[in-house]
Amino acid sequence: MNTQEAYKKYVLDTYTRLPLVFVEGKGSILTSSSGKKFIDLFPGWGTSILGHSHPILSRAISQQARTLIHIPNNLYNLVQPRLAKKIIDTSLGKGKVFFCNSGTESVEAALKLMRAYGKGKGTVISMKNSFHGRTLGALTLTAQGKHQKGFGRLLGGIKYARFGDLKDLKKKIEPGTCGIIMEVIQGEGGVNVCSKDYLQAVRALCNKKKIILAFDEVQTGVGRTGYWYAYQAYGVKPDLMCLAKGMGGGFPIGALVVSEKFKGVLKPGMHASTFGGSPIASAASLEVFRIIEKEKLLPRVRSLSKKMFKRLLELKRKYPVIEDVRGMGFMAGIVLKDEGKKMVNTAIKHGLLVNCTQGKVLRVLPALNVPESVLDKGLRILEKCFKEVYG
Ligand SMILES: *Cc1c(COP(=O)(O)O)cnc(C)c1O
Repeated sequence: MNTQEAYKKYVLDTYTRLPLVFVEGKGSILTSSSGKKFIDLFPGWGTSILGHSHPILSRAISQQARTLIHIPNNLYNLVQPRLAKKIIDTSLGKGKVFFCNSGTESVEAALKLMRAYGKGKGTVISMKNSFHGRTLGALTLTAQGKHQKGFGRLLGGIKYARFGDLKDLKKKIEPGTCGIIMEVIQGEGGVNVCSKDYLQAVRALCNKKKIILAFDEVQTGVGRTGYWYAYQAYGVKPDLMCLAKGMGGGFPIGALVVSEKFKGVLKPGMHASTFGGSPIASAASLEVFRIIEKEKLLPRVRSLSKKMFKRLLELKRKYPVIEDVRGMGFMAGIVLKDEGKKMVNTAIKHGLLVNCTQGKVLRVLPALNVPESVLDKGLRILEKCFKEVYG
């Protein structure tokens, strides 16, 4: 039985998979089982933020694996508080962290905290077209019918507002509203960037109405946009922030970052995670932060991103099928007037991996340390695909 047959027989069919089996990754290059090399401009859906198997990250993980893999949270471990400090130092300056293993879990933790803060009564507002995860609470916040369909009754007390529309948000706020959760840049929803004016107005509104503002930075966090967190480009701060994807460099870990005002809202026993913040996950994530600092990847992303968007805008001028190019840092969406599938498959044929979301938005999330020559080559291949499909 080959790999794809074994999947078919033993693994639940919850994914649409591309017919590619990968056996090795080094930096931004993936090698398939047939020995073909691919430039990966969408590493791990944004999780492999330092590319594949960064040698220093691999070493940190294997060293911790030899020392102590897991200790539950009723005991202390050496690594977790060091990671928590690093997250707080790079974000709110003051506050605390709860550790879990994935994005959806960090959103669940945020939701429970908002509910607990509202003494169990408050309603929560999320944005249309958002993506917050697949567990039932996060799925209810994910305001897209296509993800919610087929699972019966969802969580009560959730309202949806239009992303970028302050008037609509004001309309959805009621006396019992305790929190708003939103992505600063909607990722899965099509790389939708909100304006500075809007986000600042949302912050001011939340201050005025004493509503918690939570940013889901699961996709945008930990350097993706050229800032530690996307909100830092907007001059506002959240009360809560959800992290996962890039923070482990491919190792599963998530976190809820909490400002000081939530002191004492969650008491011992009210929330927990068996694996959350284990020594090995914390060591991986701590190393990701260190590497981003040491290799000065944030300014690198900000400057290389300018070049990348310039190239993408040139493509837009050449190929009228491109309706829009948007994003920030190393998070780009190329909006087509056509289904994106053809482009994804043509790219594969030419040894390039990119993603398509919302049917028509090609999504590029390069590793923060992608060599300039590899990024260039990837973008040249992308251009070749446009020529082949639409030229
Ligand atoms: C991917 C994603 C999630 C869900 O993360 P999982 O680790 O897959 O549970 C939540 N929010 C955003 C913004 C995401 O991009």
